[in-house]
Formats: sequence, C-alpha cells, structure tokens
Amino acid sequence: MKRIAVLTSGGDAPGMNAAIRAVVRKALYEGMEVFGINYGYAGLVAGDIRQLHHNDVGDMISRGGTFLYSARYPEFATEEGQLKGIEQLKKFGIEGLVVIGGDGSYRGALALTKHGYPTIGLPGTIDNDIPGTDFCIGFDTAINTVLDSLDKIRDTATSHVRTFIVEVMGRNAGDIALWAGVSGGAEQIIIPEKEFDMAEVATKITEGREKGKKHTIIVLAEGVMNGNKFAEELYKFGDYHARVTVLGHVQRGGSPTARDRVLASQFGARAVDYLKEGKGGLCLGIVNNEIIASDIIDTLEKGSHRPNVALYKLNQEISN
Ligand code: ATP
Repeated sequence: MKRIAVLTSGGDAPGMNAAIRAVVRKALYEGMEVFGINYGYAGLVAGDIRQLHHNDVGDMISRGGTFLYSARYPEFATEEGQLKGIEQLKKFGIEGLVVIGGDGSYRGALALTKHGYPTIGLPGTIDNDIPGTDFCIGFDTAINTVLDSLDKIRDTATSHVRTFIVEVMGRNAGDIALWAGVSGGAEQIIIPEKEFDMAEVATKITEGREKGKKHTIIVLAEGVMNGNKFAEELYKFGDYHARVTVLGHVQRGGSPTARDRVLASQFGARAVDYLKEGKGGLCLGIVNNEIIASDIIDTLEKGSHRPNVALYKLNQEISN
C-alpha cells in the first residue's frame, strides 16, 4: 500500500496522539502517504479527511486527548454508514485504515474488514477492556492519575479517621480499580468481576480500625454501582464516616506516561508495517510483553477481556 489513513474513535485516551504520530512518521519513513480523519467514523462518512505531514504531528507525543478529535457516531453500525465510509476512503485513493479506539471502535473496524476493506485496530481506551491485549493505550496514564488522587485522599482520610469510597472509571471492567487499588494500597477493591458482600466490607473496616488503621480506602469500579449508592448501602451496616469521591473525567486526560507513549509508538509503527505489506483485518495487542497481531474477526467474536484478577487476591492478602 502507498496511501493509508488513521482515525481515533470513542472515548479519548492519553497516548492516542503518540499513536497517530507513530503511524504518520513510520508511514513517511516507509515512503507512504498518510491521511488523518477528523471526528472518528462521523468524519469518515462526511469526508473530513486531510493529508498529514511530518510537522502535523510535531509536539504531539506529550499531549493528552486526540488532535484528530473523537466522536460517537451510532450510524456507523449500519451497513449504509459503513459503505459510505468506504466510498470516501476510495475517493481519496486511501487503501488501508488504522482505527485507534475502544470496543465500539473495534466493531467499526470489524465491519470494514467484513466489507473487504483493509483495516487495523489499535487498542486505545483507559478502560483496558479490549480482547486480544493485556494493555490498551491510555490505561497506564489513567491508573497513575487515580494513584495520585488516592495518595492525596489517604492524607486526609488518615487525619480524620475516615472511610473513603473512591469511584473510578472502567465501564464494565475492573482493571482501573485493580491496578490503582493495589498500587495505592487500598484496603478494599470492589470490581464487577468479583461478587462482594456489604456485611463483609463493613466487618473488614471494623477489623482494620481494631488493628489501629486510621483510614479505609475502598476503590470502587463504576461497573459495580455508583459511589453514593455504595455509601448508602454501607451505612445500613454502621456509620463509618464514609466520604465519596468520584474521580470522573480527570482519568481521561493528562500527558501520557512513558509506558503509554512507548506502547502507542510500537502499535502505530507495527500497524504501518502490516498495511505496507497489504495486510488488514488485524488488531494489535501486547501479550506477555510482546507486540502481537491477531485476526480482528476471531478476536472480537471469540475472545473476551479478562482483567488480572490475581491482583484482587493479592490485595486481600496484603492490604487490610
Ligand atoms: P470507549 O470504550 O473508550 O468508550 P469505544 O470505542 O468503545 O471507546 P463507542 O462509543 O462504544 O466507544 O464506539 C465508538 C464508535 O464506534 C461509535 O460511535 C460508532 O461510530 C462505532 N461503532 C460502535 N459500535 C459499532 C458497531 N457495532 N458497528 C460499527 N461501528 C460501531
């Protein structure tokens, strides 16, 4: 292939810019032309497409968000939308596409693949909930953002002998809660992948106090329930001076960590390698510390995401 394009879609994630930069720079290095599509699939269908040059991605590696913007565009789930998108790509003479995004964005990439259009998916979501990879672009930055907040909350929780319920993002996945919870020394981590019993949560808080703990930090994944509801339910078992912090969209922003930038760079460059060889229908991942490519149809239709639940047990053993 000689001419390719890149878009970002769904929820933005820190490191998306680093991935776009890698696609652009590697494509130019290989003597290819590269185009950027604004606003995800919405821009694809509308033909909001422009050529990207070396300097367009200058100063981008450190910036959070995505300079190609992102959008939610449900119309792309229809065949009509998908065919219009392919028509636009053909109009610009673009032979292959890199899609950076989460689960929904991957569904779009899958649809293009099924229509025979060479597409490669790069996992970009702070939720880390995509099959075919251990880690997604943006996850490391997000957990470090949560960790920074947990460290701060710990200071005030200790001073007032309080229980803090910290609600974190992740949609239906517990990855953010697990990794931030373990690294932040949270006493309890509540995730959708593990049943929990509120009476047990309360007992553990009491036991912690008896051991001389000055605070309790509970990291709650949003996929379980919201923080205020959790506090209400906990109150039925006693008054633990609970305070709720909902971290919200701060988790989506910020300059990407070194790890996210490196991962994004590896994924972006590897995607170009495949497209140069004329290969599409793939999604990239990092599994056991190795960058891998898998068939996007198999991965999405047969694979499923599973967080590292060993961290859950580890936390129970070392943090209460
Ligand atoms: P995040 O997980 O970070 O929110 P995401 O990629 O899962 O990211 P979605 O809003 O679910 O975010 O999906 C992004 C876009 O992908 C949608 O707005 C739509 O344009 C496209 N998309 C979603 N589902 C499908 C589908 N089944 N077929 C084709 N395209 C889809």
